[in-house]
Amino acid sequence: MIDFSQLNVIESLKQGLREVGYTDMTPVQAATLPAILAARDVVAQAQTGSGKTAAFALGLLSALDATVVKLQGMVLCPTRELADQVSREIRRLARFIPNVKVLTLCGGVPLRPHLASLAHEPHIVVGTPGRLLELIEKHALPLRSVKVLVLDEADRMLDMGFAEAIGDIIKALPSQRQTLLFSATIPHAVREISCDLQREPFDVTVELEPAEALIEQTFFEVRAEHKLTALQSLLLQHRPESVVVFCNTRQAVRTVAGELAARNFSVLALHGELDQREREEMLVRFANRSCTVLVASDVAARGLDIAELPMVINFDVATDPDTHLHRIGRTGRAGLSGLALSLCAPHELARVKIIQGRLGTPVHWGTLTSSSAALAPLLAPFVTLAIDAGRQDKLRPGDLLGALTGEAGLPAAAVGKIAVFATRTYVAIAREWHAKATQRLRAGKIKGRTFRIREMDA
Ligand code: AMP
Repeated sequence: MIDFSQLNVIESLKQGLREVGYTDMTPVQAATLPAILAARDVVAQAQTGSGKTAAFALGLLSALDATVVKLQGMVLCPTRELADQVSREIRRLARFIPNVKVLTLCGGVPLRPHLASLAHEPHIVVGTPGRLLELIEKHALPLRSVKVLVLDEADRMLDMGFAEAIGDIIKALPSQRQTLLFSATIPHAVREISCDLQREPFDVTVELEPAEALIEQTFFEVRAEHKLTALQSLLLQHRPESVVVFCNTRQAVRTVAGELAARNFSVLALHGELDQREREEMLVRFANRSCTVLVASDVAARGLDIAELPMVINFDVATDPDTHLHRIGRTGRAGLSGLALSLCAPHELARVKIIQGRLGTPVHWGTLTSSSAALAPLLAPFVTLAIDAGRQDKLRPGDLLGALTGEAGLPAAAVGKIAVFATRTYVAIAREWHAKATQRLRAGKIKGRTFRIREMDA
C-alpha cells in the first residue's frame, strides 16, 4: 500500500484526505492517481467501492484554481444519486481549499432553480448528461475554462441512452482538456468513446476488480418454484443487517417483495415505476437500517450506493456477466468482505457457465439446508419516523436530536441516521424506542413548533 503523503498534491488536499480518514490509497487510486495528477487522460476500469470517486475528485481539485471564479471541472454521472455522492466526496476533500463551489445539476426537477444557481459561476459541476446539455443549450453553462472532464460509470451512461447527449456536450467543450473515464466494465462501446474523446489515455484495466477478491460467491441450484423458500432460508440463516435481492424483471421484484412482506420480513421493492420522492424515501429507509431487504431490478438499482452492504442475493441469475459483476460488486466495498449468493434454476445454468468463463474460475456451488422455520424472524434494528418539515423550515439534524434526547428522554444511542430534505426529515429510531419517540414527539415540540410525525413500518 502506498500512502497519500507521497502524492504530489497541495497541502490543503492532504489535509482534506486526513480529515476524511484516508491514509492508504486503494489499488485503483494507486494505479490512476500518478497519471491523473500528471494531467494525462485516463481510462480506468473501476467499480463502485474501488475509491474511484476520490481518485478523480483529487484530479479535479488539483487542477482547480479556486481564486478564479470560473467553471473548471465537469463530472457526468448516470443518476442523481451518484451525482449527489460525487459532489459530496468532492466537497469533503475540498474542505481546506477556501471557497470552492460545487453544483449538482440533474434532470427530473424544474430547470429554473438551476438557472438561478448558475448566476454565480461554480468551479465544478456534477450532473446527468441530459440536464447539463439542456443548460449548455440555454447558454447557462460557460464552458470556456473547463480543464477537466470526468465520465463516471460510462458503461451505465451508455446503457441509459446518454451517448448522444455526451457527444453533444463534448462538442461544446474546449478541446484542450483532461478527460478521465471511469467504468465498471469496458465493453466495446466504452472503448470507442475513449478513442473518440481521449488522447493517448493511460489505461488502467484491472484483471479482476480488487473488491471482487473480497466477495465470497456461492451459487445454489434450486427449482424455480422453490426459490422463494430458498431465499427465505438464506435470509434467516445468514441474518444480514442489509441485503439487496436482485430480480431480472419488475414483475419478479413485486412478487418477491410481496411474498417476503407476507412472511414478516422488513422489505421494500425498488422498481422503475416509483416517483422521485418514493424512491428517495426507500433509499433513506434502507440506508438507515429500518428496512433489511431491498428487492430491486437492475435498472432501479442504478446509482444505488449503500456503504458497507454485507450481502447481495441474486434471486434470478443475471442475463449477462457484466450485470452479474455489477450486482455483486455492490458488496465487499472499500476493503470489507461481502457475500454474494445466487439462486440458479436449471434453465439458468447456461448463464452461470458464461459468468464462469468471464471470471476465469469455476464458481462455488453450495447446498441449501432446509428447515429455517424455527429461526427467529429477521427484524430491522431501526424504525423510520417521517417528519413533515425540512430545510425549508430551517429544521436541522441537531434540532431533532435535541428534541429526542432532551424533552423526549431517549438515549443518544437510540437515534440513528437523520436525513433532512427540503420539506421532509427522516429519523431512524432503535426499534425498542420508536413508540416512545413517536409519542413524545407528537406530544412535545421541535424548535417550539409542532409538526406532523408519521411512523413508517417496513
Ligand atoms: P467509491 O468507489 O468512490 O464509490 O468509494 C467507495 C468508498 O470507499 C467510499 O465510501 C469512500 O469514502 C471510501 N474510500 C475511498 N478512498 C478511500 C481510501 N483511500 N481509504 C479508505 N476509504 C476510501
